[in-house]
Amino acid sequence: MELGRRDLLLTAAALLAAPTIGRAQAAGDRKLGYAIVGLGYYGLNVILPQFANCEHSRVTALVSGDRAKALATAARYGVPERSIYSYETFDQIRDNPDVDVVYVILPNSMHAEYTIRAAKAGKHVMCEKPMAVSVAECEAMIAACKTAGRKLMIGYRCHFEPFNLEAMRLARSGAAGKVRYVVSEHGFVQRDPSKWRLKKALAGGGSLMDMGVYSLQAARYMTGEEPVAVTARESTDRSDPRFTEVEDMIAWTLNFPSGAIATCQSMYSANQNHVLLMGDRGRIELEPATRYDGNRLWTGRDGREQEVTAPPAGPGKTQFAGQLDHMAVSLRTGAEPIVSGEEGLRDLRIVEAIYRSARDGRTITL
Ligand code: NDP
Repeated sequence: MELGRRDLLLTAAALLAAPTIGRAQAAGDRKLGYAIVGLGYYGLNVILPQFANCEHSRVTALVSGDRAKALATAARYGVPERSIYSYETFDQIRDNPDVDVVYVILPNSMHAEYTIRAAKAGKHVMCEKPMAVSVAECEAMIAACKTAGRKLMIGYRCHFEPFNLEAMRLARSGAAGKVRYVVSEHGFVQRDPSKWRLKKALAGGGSLMDMGVYSLQAARYMTGEEPVAVTARESTDRSDPRFTEVEDMIAWTLNFPSGAIATCQSMYSANQNHVLLMGDRGRIELEPATRYDGNRLWTGRDGREQEVTAPPAGPGKTQFAGQLDHMAVSLRTGAEPIVSGEEGLRDLRIVEAIYRSARDGRTITL
């Protein structure tokens, strides 16, 4: 049977999970060095502590606009002072042999610039989601990495999260039968109007550019298909000071070639984190679906409900370590990361179509 692209992704993830491969590659090899660009919430509180869980990766440089914060962080993680950069001195990273990968964890509209500058400095790039704020930027990022002969991976951590991996495996194994529909909804209450996430120039859009990426990704990895059409509508109270520049709630429907439909939603005015796949024999449900931890998975078939409490371990001690080490292993083996720049570009193409559909009030064929 011919394997689909998604099946290949899952196979790749499973192969990377095999402990013997990890040990063989670790032997005699130094850990790959990451430069963290942007010491904000995610970089500082989520990613940096995760290097302790990595087998193949370590932090070797920091890039920040706040020198005092960078110095304190460097002291905490054993990064030498000579490996601290500002946004102005960032390009000097080319001369730092301890840096293999630049990890861009900046506001969305800065992803393209720092990915391209990193590639020009001869470094591989891990870039946070959304990959960028437009298809054109994604294409420029892919081209820059290709020209420099460097790899580009997107921080789609759910591809390394054990419950999401198990949900994908169950969906592909036919546990719920033929897929009929997916519901995928993500949001949180954004309270502070001053946040960059609510500024169009920095975020590129509203909830769709943030939590909507999880809804969209899950719709694609749960069905294992690429959508052929999208229909969207938006609901935003523009008199609310939080939403003068970007959307609050946006809902969209994706049609897939098999006939399956995904109903997706993102919002900055309600807390939701849920993915449901319904097939003609049963269901696969994640709630919460894509959090940093505490995700839960259920299956239901023939009236029998079951919680999957311990899925097989993912490729890493945590989804974050799995993601960081996946890039390191990809560099050693020469394999493309399972969530490459092309994967980020696919999402941005759909994101642009969602905005176009909501604006024009019509279905967009993809
Ligand atoms: P924060 O606002 O907490 O941090 C962003 C950091 O970027 C700042 O602390 C600052 O670092 C740097 N920065 C540089 N220029 C600016 C600017 N003009 N305005 C604001 N910050 C600036 O954001 P997050 O860490 O939450 O998000 C960063 C990226 O990571 C986003 O793209 C987001 O989508 C992604 N993300 C991904 C998550 C995931 O689960 N995969 C979760 C959370 C975020 P410094 O002070 O060091 O210069």
